[in-house]
Amino acid sequence: FLEIANISKTFGNVTAVSDVSLEIARGEFVTFLGPSGSGKSTTLYMIAGFFEPTRGDVRLEGRSILSEPSNKRNIGMVFQRYTLFPHLSVAENVAFPLRVRRRPAAEIAGKVEEMLALVRLESFAGRMPAQLSGGQQQRVALARALAYNPPLLLMDEPLSALDKKLREEIQDEIRRIHRQTGVTILYVTHDQEEALSLSDRIALFNHGKIEQLGKGRELYEAPRTRFVADFIGHSN
Ligand code: ATP
Ligand code: MG
Repeated sequence: FLEIANISKTFGNVTAVSDVSLEIARGEFVTFLGPSGSGKSTTLYMIAGFFEPTRGDVRLEGRSILSEPSNKRNIGMVFQRYTLFPHLSVAENVAFPLRVRRRPAAEIAGKVEEMLALVRLESFAGRMPAQLSGGQQQRVALARALAYNPPLLLMDEPLSALDKKLREEIQDEIRRIHRQTGVTILYVTHDQEEALSLSDRIALFNHGKIEQLGKGRELYEAPRTRFVADFIGHSN
């Protein structure tokens, strides 16, 4: 479904990502886990189309997407914060990707309602982003990212600006939405508990490479290196 083939990225003389390969099945939930600076976001941004890889290829549903501009890739995205348009209401934020695609008004209205129900914010349609809590804003961002049914959803530390209780609440929400929609999710976090509790598989990054890839259980019970054992075993 998604094939990442030997991608690398250098910025000047810094190698951010070094020869990363990974295949992801449709409907899978895969997490990039690893310390700060290990290349998680850079890898995600090459898939999203914000950075062009120095080397390598990315294929989605069989076609190479590197030559396609970011907004043509049919990939939903949610980031850490500041993701909503502050001057648009909740409903207009969710409608935005559909307006860009020139969908008919009736379809947009129906879809906005459906998406706000999905994230349980039906009664917030008329509010402005500034009138929402951080967690509510992230749920609206999720609704907007999924509004045009992208086959792939990328999330870069979407919960890191939230407190622990809210984080757990929205983790449940993400899990439920993954189950309900079947969307393939690539998720970035440096929090191993979050990775273990959400993912089908984890790619543990270290110095721009995938140090180990597998089910959380495998990394936990059969770490291949000292780094994996330390990173998965401890709180950081
Ligand atoms: P974090 O958990 O802190 O978000 P990360 O794993 O997402 O870390 P990246 O953002 O992918 O790490 O960064 C990997 C390396 O690439 C770092 O050394 C970083 O300084 C460097 N880097 C990232 N973006 C750029 C850029 N635009 N220009 C130069 N160097 C960059
Ligand atoms: Mg990052």
